[in-house]
Amino acid sequence: MNMQNCTLCPRNCHADRTKQYGFCHASSEVEVALVSLHKWEEPCLSGKNGAGTVFFSHCSMKCIFCQNHEISTEGKGLKVSIERLAEIFLEQQQRKAHCLELVTPTHYVPQIIKALDIAKQNGLNIPVVYNCSGYEKVETLQALRNYIDVFLPDFKYFYSETAKEYSNAPDYPEVAKKVIDKMYELVGKPVFKDDIMQKGVIIRHLILPWQYKESMQIVKYIWETYHDDVYLSLMNQYTPMYKALSHPKLKRKLTTFEYNKVVDFASDLGFTNCYIQQGKTATKDFVPNFNGENVL
Ligand code: SF4
Repeated sequence: MNMQNCTLCPRNCHADRTKQYGFCHASSEVEVALVSLHKWEEPCLSGKNGAGTVFFSHCSMKCIFCQNHEISTEGKGLKVSIERLAEIFLEQQQRKAHCLELVTPTHYVPQIIKALDIAKQNGLNIPVVYNCSGYEKVETLQALRNYIDVFLPDFKYFYSETAKEYSNAPDYPEVAKKVIDKMYELVGKPVFKDDIMQKGVIIRHLILPWQYKESMQIVKYIWETYHDDVYLSLMNQYTPMYKALSHPKLKRKLTTFEYNKVVDFASDLGFTNCYIQQGKTATKDFVPNFNGENVL
């Protein structure tokens, strides 16, 4: 995990991040766009008080429909030292967050490990959640053993063609399967305390317009591989923005028909550990305001 020859994620740029940028456009200094209490995550993470989200700037995926493109691609955010990052983690606990949720952390794993060491020495004891795209390296995840309690990966695409078209990552489906396997090995079956997840894997899948049949393949794969030993979170909140606004297939919202097809399919397979979304979630109102709050 060398910042001068970065191979943290499957892009394998070998960039010297002290001098140049790789695909993710992150330097060796950590940048954070927002520190907040997030009440709209899965109920076992948000609880009553909210999940203690820390949104990191930049991303190694850069999906053309990204809902957080302001920070993932445009790089909005503020530089923080490792010591300040550790303070941020502890401040989230002081705000009574039910968990510390690291959002898009992949390209900062070495710095996050150092900050977690400091924070844990100073009393951090809430579950640490790793919220990522699913485009990871097994070696990088191995370094997180004993640091992460709950993995919250996306499983975005089942077909290489879709992964190439929307995220320029044709290897995504195979990578995501290996990554989720590794995550399950690291934290195991779900464990709860007072309705808050303490250990486990929650796989998120955002259903895209015209894609519900591909979504069913993902749901089937998860069921056949893990049954109810992981949680599935089926998301309907897709809102066209960024490059998707001019894309022929992505420029509209998801229909209720498409979403219900996938939900019914999961239910018919036998999933009981499955979160679904209800009501009008497909709106820009659910995209956080990345205003640097609580970062400095
Ligand atoms: S973390 Fe960034 S620089 Fe490193 S390999 Fe991935 S995209 Fe490239």
